[in-house]
Amino acid sequence: MIKFEQVSKVYSGSHQALQKVDFHLKQGEMAFLTGHSGAGKSTLLKLISLLERPSDGRVILNGNDISRVSRRHVPYLRRHIGMIFQDHKLLMDKTVFENVALPLVIEGYSRAEVERRVMAALDKVGLHGKEFCVPVHLSGGEQQRVGIARAVVNKPPLLLADEPTGNLDPKLSTEILKLFEAFNSVGVSVLIATHDLGLIAKMRYRTLTLRNGKMLSDGLMGGEHV
Ligand code: ADP
Ligand code: ADP
Repeated sequence: MIKFEQVSKVYSGSHQALQKVDFHLKQGEMAFLTGHSGAGKSTLLKLISLLERPSDGRVILNGNDISRVSRRHVPYLRRHIGMIFQDHKLLMDKTVFENVALPLVIEGYSRAEVERRVMAALDKVGLHGKEFCVPVHLSGGEQQRVGIARAVVNKPPLLLADEPTGNLDPKLSTEILKLFEAFNSVGVSVLIATHDLGLIAKMRYRTLTLRNGKMLSDGLMGGEHV
């Protein structure tokens, strides 16, 4: 699914955010990505979602080297990735329905198909009945569920989450992780960047650990070395 081969990223100003990173996430696998603040977690996710380009090395997505794809192919590739952010990035003046529908509307699905898929996505994340609410009237946990529904609504084979539980208490964090598990159990690959070691310890998944831009460890419970 995702393969990094000796990937380095240097931002302008010569700050090295990633250094010769290698890893492979298989189709259907779920893993955590951890490390201190500034370790390079967001950068790694941005290289997969093509929000940033590597300075060196190869990023391979489904067998295609995406390090050098042309700009016009980027929207097409991104359609196969569901992205979830700590701050949700919801449109606050739109309803839950409109927020979740957005990726489908952009793709030009029919009204009936949009409705069917949005309701199915809201059902999966436990937000049935909230479709006409606006995000400000929802709790932090519910807002994150809207973000997840929007990420999965066009059924991408890969979910990338950047600190998805950053603003949530441990109980809500566990519930959000259970949602990721449910998507993973039907074959979706999931990569979750988090510095929440308590959560990682509880869930016992493969853990990729970055330190100062280098891959420090890769295995079960790698987080304890951070
Ligand atoms: P993390 O997500 O683990 O906190 P990041 O990937 O956000 O780490 O950042 C890794 C390093 O790269 C940090 O030192 C950060 O300041 C730097 N960095 C991130 N984005 C940029 C950017 N757009 N320009 C310059 N430096 C950046
Ligand atoms: P995140 O919480 O996702 O790691 P950050 O707060 O680190 O995000 O960064 C927010 C935005 O600013 C990102 O787009 C990141 O690429 C950019 N950024 C981070 N560090 C730097 C930096 N040192 N110089 C310029 N841009 C940066």
